[in-house]
Order: sequence, then structure tokens, then C-alpha cells
Amino acid sequence: MATKYVYFFGSGKAEGKAEMKNLLGGKGANLAEMTNIGLPVPPGFTITTEVCTYYYANKHKYPKTLEKEVLAALGKVEKAMGVKFGDDENPLLVSIRSGARASMPGMMDTILNLGLNDKAVAGLINKTKNERFAYDSYRRFVQMYGDVVLGLKPVHKDDIDPFEEIIEAKKHEKGVTLDTDLTADDLKDLVVRFKAAIKEKTGHDFPENPMTQLWGAIGAVFGSWMNDRAIAYRKLYDIPESWGTAVNVQTMVFGNMGLDSGTGVAFTRDAASGANVFYGEYLMNAQGEDVVAGTRTPLPISKLAQDEPVMYRQLEKIRKTLEKHYRDMMDVEFTIQQGKLYMLQCRVGKRTAFASIRIAVDMVGEKLISDQEALKRIEPDQLNQLLRPIFDLDEKAAAIKAGRLLAKGLNAGPGAACGRVVFNAVDAEAWAKRGEKVILTRIETSPEDIKGMDAAEGILTARGGMTSHAALVARQMGKVCVAGCSELEIDYNTHIMTVKGQSVKEGDWVSIDGTTGEVIAGQVNTKPSEVLQVLIDKTLEPKNAPVYQEFAKIMQWADKYRALKIRTNADQPDQSANAVAFGAEGIGLCRTEHMFFGEGKIGPMREMILADTLEQRKAALGKLLPLQRQDFAGIFEVMNGRPVTIRTIDPPLHEFLPHEEKQQRELASQMGISFEKVKQRIDSLHEFNPMLGFRGCRLGIIYPEITEMQARAIFEAAAETKKKKINVEPEVMIPLVGNIKELQHQAAIVRTVATQVMKEQGVTFKYLVGTMIEIPRGAMTADEIATVAEFFSFGTNDLTQTTLGVSRDDAGRFIKPYVDMDIYPKDPFEVLDRTGVGSLMKIAVEKGRATAPTLKLGICGEHGGDPSSVEFCHMIGLDYVSCSPFRVPIARLAAARAALAYPRLTVKAKKTVVKKRRTK
Ligand code: PEP
Ligand code: MG
Repeated sequence: MATKYVYFFGSGKAEGKAEMKNLLGGKGANLAEMTNIGLPVPPGFTITTEVCTYYYANKHKYPKTLEKEVLAALGKVEKAMGVKFGDDENPLLVSIRSGARASMPGMMDTILNLGLNDKAVAGLINKTKNERFAYDSYRRFVQMYGDVVLGLKPVHKDDIDPFEEIIEAKKHEKGVTLDTDLTADDLKDLVVRFKAAIKEKTGHDFPENPMTQLWGAIGAVFGSWMNDRAIAYRKLYDIPESWGTAVNVQTMVFGNMGLDSGTGVAFTRDAASGANVFYGEYLMNAQGEDVVAGTRTPLPISKLAQDEPVMYRQLEKIRKTLEKHYRDMMDVEFTIQQGKLYMLQCRVGKRTAFASIRIAVDMVGEKLISDQEALKRIEPDQLNQLLRPIFDLDEKAAAIKAGRLLAKGLNAGPGAACGRVVFNAVDAEAWAKRGEKVILTRIETSPEDIKGMDAAEGILTARGGMTSHAALVARQMGKVCVAGCSELEIDYNTHIMTVKGQSVKEGDWVSIDGTTGEVIAGQVNTKPSEVLQVLIDKTLEPKNAPVYQEFAKIMQWADKYRALKIRTNADQPDQSANAVAFGAEGIGLCRTEHMFFGEGKIGPMREMILADTLEQRKAALGKLLPLQRQDFAGIFEVMNGRPVTIRTIDPPLHEFLPHEEKQQRELASQMGISFEKVKQRIDSLHEFNPMLGFRGCRLGIIYPEITEMQARAIFEAAAETKKKKINVEPEVMIPLVGNIKELQHQAAIVRTVATQVMKEQGVTFKYLVGTMIEIPRGAMTADEIATVAEFFSFGTNDLTQTTLGVSRDDAGRFIKPYVDMDIYPKDPFEVLDRTGVGSLMKIAVEKGRATAPTLKLGICGEHGGDPSSVEFCHMIGLDYVSCSPFRVPIARLAAARAALAYPRLTVKAKKTVVKKRRTK
């Protein structure tokens, strides 16, 4: 059978349907669908996207059968309308519009009022008894046709549109300023002048024959698939060129035929809040372009209920029909022509994150969609809007419009914060203590800054990427953070930062948006999140918090479907408690080194580092032991029997020593040693790239007493907790292992201490010893490593750094340009590089499980909270992901969506597969 290229819709029946988007484009498929469900759609037909593909593959020629099909479809339209195309008395007028599979608003061409000529315009006057309207329609048609089909448009950006030039001249002659002041005769004259301009510029007459007009317009719309705008848009939104566009030819209806006509756009629910109310705008006696152009102020749709109650009731009914049919919030365009309502377009409506969540939840309640479908419709990152403080959007837009946008950095910690600029952690703490809101602004942060970071509303840095210290600590604390904002020039001496020639002094207000990376001068008001007020601050009752209730529902549905467990990266009891409130099922990474910056711990830690002898070091460690034990006991108690992975010390030791001379001198005097000695030790510990030096398990191997102390602190805390009848499950994790011997060495120490402590304390408890897989050799030798490790946790921050050979702290400078140039599809420290780093992970999973089939596998790099990376972790069969506390809900949702998209075989299903294979 010959391929069908044209699909008719009209008189309550269409040849196409919604599912045929690929063939008919979004607009064509929905026009067909609306026709089929009995909505008043002006009849027309759609020429398929296959014709577009054919057209480009065959030197701008059409398939042979197309003309016949178009004529037949046109005949059906004429019949449905009872009028004739090109008729002098009662002409059929049509619109020609593009319509690709994905919406490409305004990128391609449209022609309205096609079919008019010098004779047909008389017919239109006769029919409407409105000469001005008829000539206005005619001049608009000649203008559009001249522009789109005949190419009469400005060549350079400074050129004036040739048709606008003629209109302006006419208005000048008549001494009027508005188009609406031109009379029917003036418009008639404009048509003559337009045609003359066309003849002069192109050498051809304007085509009077409607059939010639039609084919010219169809060709122009197909041609516009390859215009510069459309090509650029496709590139931006990853729309393949091969998709092509469809062309929709549809009977014209007019909203500007008098006071009983009008036009409007509407959403079936509020696209901003998601409320179940009809939401939109309209204008009487106007065309579609008047509503969007902003020349007249449209009225809210609720006004239509008062002014045109019959029309409103019909629209309200259509709204219900559409939602019931499409089971989604729809965006519609309608026209009222002399008291009769027509639907011109419908598509799934764009909406804010708040609306998206509310609509999905409401629609489950209304039994329009299932809970699974609701989960598929909510992007995990949208939850951020529910969790974090946000700016008043109007205020922010006004600030940006007023030129207050200072710079844009990486959106490292989502949410909105506003405060006074301070340039060091000590000031941040002091200012916050006296009740000031501050933004800690640093070139980069170090562990020393932790207390200042905690005191600040938000953190702003000039250097560092998505896994820089500032970024990951901020996320763990739930702080707003904009990192790697390289336009900031920060001078610590003068306490001034300069950006784009503007100076921001200490104490000046700035507002930072960690969701978008924007830095704005001055104050922009923020709104607290309802979910946080309920879960964390406990200042709001769930029953008074509708947004929280939506959030809770989504989480409940997500937990029903996900296969991955969700843990958190936390190293303080309060962070752990936050994470549990967000639904964390364990701790996947407790970075013990962060604890050393807590009250009273940094002193003994520095003593340990500066010790000359083993005895001195052991004495210092002896002071640290009870402090660490107390920390662990606090966490175990909060986690109440949930598994807790504690990592032995990882960062290079110089991070624990002061960097500035003043503090180094103070330390020397505190410890009763010379400043020179302190300085000399710090210098000797300095590394060019500390991320690849004396760190990770290398520290515990060269100084086994450190691992011993940490293991003891963990196990003594476990014994203490167990004695309180609280269950504990410590998992001791050795970092940066690349060689089985490293793990053997450290595991032996940990196990010996465990046995000792159990004996000393007279209690037993379960524990595991495992490792991070975070350097390529660790992944490649995972089969060997799994003979010792009882679990693997992928440290994808380091694994990305070491696989790509890109330092996680210095990458800020080129990552953004790399992403802009499409060298990296995304920042690899934010979204897991599946092809490179992901391949190593897959190898490690396969090799690890080949040795130990029940090996527990997780991830604790920052990717554990990124939806795309969570999906990958689900796909390669990990048991859990671990992320910062505030990302736990995002990970829960991402894990559920991954499970719905890629169902894992259940044990039962797996057995059946094996059985089947055996019987083959
Ligand atoms: C990692 O490397 O992914 C990791 C979790 O460890 P850290 O960020 O502390 O190096
Ligand atoms: Mg690491």
C-alpha cells in the first residue's frame, strides 16, 4: 500500500490520534485527538513529518502522491465547512503552521488567512459585513506571505522591515500613530502597495491563485525546518534533524470579527502553584498575536465567566474533558468567532516545580494517574524547591533587571541565602554570634573554616568545583553554596571583593542562589521551606503544612518502588538526625577527619602531627581516643541500629595545621615549641597536589597507631552503645586502597582491636571491614580486594579525579568551558561519567561479586545524590547510595524512578531465568 502522507481531521472524526506524534508532530496529533474526543476543532489536515524528510532527501521535491492527497483532504475540509477554497462569494481561508514532534515555539513559520485575493476579499466582506476586518486580514496575509514565502524581510539586523516601512509611511501620510487608526480604504491601499513592493523586489507578481498560494506556503514551512533559528534551537534541546516537521493546514477562525469574538490561552490548572483552578487570559475582538504581543492587556479567564458565561461554561467543560482524557495539565489556545468556540491547540502544559509536584499528587488523589506515573512525572531535582529556602521570584527578577546580578558560579548547594559579606571564618562566627546574617566569602575554603561555614547563612567561593571542600561540606550541612565563582576578585587584606568593576566591602549585603549559581548585590527576601519547618526545625505541624503533605506522599510512593537503599554522608549526630528525618537508612560515609575540628580536638590532633617520637604520638592519640569515642557513640545512638560506615582518616595531615603565620606562631607558643619548628614541619608536609600524596590508607600504614586509635574509638563506642541496649552495626572503611596488601595491613589492625575490645568490654557486636574503591587500580583488582573486604563503597569523587586525571580542587577553571564546548556532557564531578568512571565501577562490581557474590556495594562520592548517577548505580546493581542529608529525599525519588525504568529481577524471577536456561 502506498504511504499515506496526509491525515484529515474535522466533523468529529480524525484519521490521526495523539499517539501519532512522530508522524503528525505534536500540534497535528493533538488536533486529531481533540477532534476525536468531540471538541470543536476547525477542520483541516496534517501533512506528515515523513514528507519533510522526503523533501530534504530529494532536492526539495515532494512524494508523487502528495498532491492528490492534499486535494482530497482539502475537498473534505470544504465539505465540512460548506465553503470552497478560492471561491469569490464565500471563500475558505486556511492557516498553514509547522508542528514538530517536540515543541519549538516560534522557531518556524506560520501563514494566516491564506486563500484571499482581490476577488475573495469581496466575498469575505460580503460574509462578514465588515470591510475593515476583511482588508486588515488581506493585508496581514500579503505581508506574511511576502515575508515567509517570497523572502521580503530585512537582510541585516539594522534594516527596517520593508512592509513595516510601507505601513509607517501610510500612517505618516494620514497623520495617525496607531495601526488601528487606519481605515478600510487605507488598508486596501496598503495591499496594493505591498504587492507593488513584492513585484519590485522579486520581479514576480503576488500569486492570486489560492492553490499556488497553498503550495508556496507548504514549501516555506518545510523550508523553515532548516532556518538558522530552528537549527540553533534543535541543537540546544537535542532535537534530531531527522525528525522533520509536519505541516498543518486548518480552516481559519477569527477572534477579531467583532465584540462577540475573541481569543485566549489557558492552562487547565494553575501552572505556577498547581492549584486545581482554570488559569488563563483572553481578549475580545482580538487575534492570537494580540494576546501574546502585550499591546493590549489581556483579561483573566475568570472575567469571561462574568462577561460571556455561555462561552465560559463550554470552556470549563472542555477543560474537564481534556484533563480526563490526557490525564495531565494541558495548555490550550482557543478562539471565539461570532459566539462560537473553537479549540486551536492543546499540549501538555509547562509548569513550575511546585506545580508539578502538586498536580501529580492531586491527580493521584483524583484517580487520574497512578502513583508510579506521579513518580515518573516529578524530576528529583524539583524536590529541591520544596526543601530549601527560596527567593521571592518577583523580587529576584526585579533585582536582576535593575542590574544587581554580580556574577554566576556553580550551583553547589541549593537554596537561597542573603547576608552580609565576611571574608573569614572567624569573623563569620563572631558576627553570627551577635545576631548578624553572614555570607562567608572565600577564595576557597579549607577544613579550618568549618565553624565559620556552620555559622554562615551561605558560602560563596571564587575557586573550586562541585566536589571542592566548600561544596561538599556545605551540602552536608545543608548550607546554600555558590562555588567556583571565578569572576570574584577577593582581597583578604582590604576585606573587599571586586566583580565587574564593582566593589563589595565587608558588611555589604549579598544574596546568593545556590540553585542557579547567581550572586546578587543587596538583599532579596527569602522564604523558608515548609518541609524543613516540619521535619528539621519541628516548628510546624504536618496537618498545617500542605506542601509537606505532598512531599510525604511522594516519599511514601518512592519507598514502595525503589530497590536501592539510601544512606547519608554525615559525621555529626545532628547531621545524622537530619538525615534520618529525611529518610536515611544508615550512614554511608562518616569522614572522621571532620570530627577533629570539633571542640577541643584540634589541639591533640596537632600535637599528634607535630610529635617527634612514637611515644609522643601515642600520647596525643590517647587524648583523642575518648573524644572520638564520644563522637561515635553520639552517632550510633542517633542511628539506632542502622548501619554506620566510618572511614579511617583520609586527608593529608597539613590540612590540620594552620596556614597563616599568625596562627602558626600562636600554635608554637601554645605547644611550647619554636615557631621555626612549626613552620618547618608544615613546610615539610606541604604537597603540590595533596589529593594524590600522603593521604588515605597510606597514613594509617605509615602510622598504624592512628588506625589503632580510631578502631578502638569506634569499637569502644559500639560496646558502650550496645550496653545501653541500642543495636549497633559499625562498618569500618579503609580509604584510597589500590593494592590488596594495603587493605590486608589495615584490616588486620582493625580486626585485632575489635577482638580486644569485645574481650575487654564483655560484649559482642557485629561489624564489617571494607574499603573504598576510589582509584583505578582498586577497581581493576576488585576480585583480589574482595577476598578481604566485606563491602565496597565507591568514592567517585576520587575515582573521577584519578580516572580523568583532573584534580577535583583545581578543575574549576576549565570545567565550565569544557561543558560549554561539549567536550564533557556535564561536569563529571557532579554527574557521573558513565562511559569512563562508570566502566571502572562496572568492572569492580563484576570482579568483586565474582569473588564474593553477596558483597555489599554502595557509593559515597557526591554522585550518590545526583539523580542520573543514582540511576546508573541502580542499573549496575549497587545495594545503596549515600549522599548528604538534604539530598536524601532526592535520592529516594531518583532510586524509585530508576527502579520503574529498569526493574531489577527479584530473587524469584532470577531463579526462574536460571531454571529456564538450564532446561534449554
Ligand atoms: C570520594 O572520593 O568519593 C569520597 C567520598 O571521599 P572524599 O570526598 O572524602 O575523598
Ligand atoms: Mg575519596
